[in-house]
Amino acid sequence: MKMFKCSLCNEYTFKEECLKCNIKTMNPNPPKFSPEDKYGEYRRKMLIKK
Ligand SMILES: [Zn+2]
Repeated sequence: MKMFKCSLCNEYTFKEECLKCNIKTMNPNPPKFSPEDKYGEYRRKMLIKK
């Protein structure tokens, strides 16, 4: 189950909206990865294949 956090009242909720503030909550723990690094690695592998 996903946990969301309201940026206004800092309450954690399972809903995509904060029932108190009526605003969209956000994911407090976005997946830790760097798209640039991943893409760099992919490009490096492609270069090696060629
Ligand atoms: Zn809230």
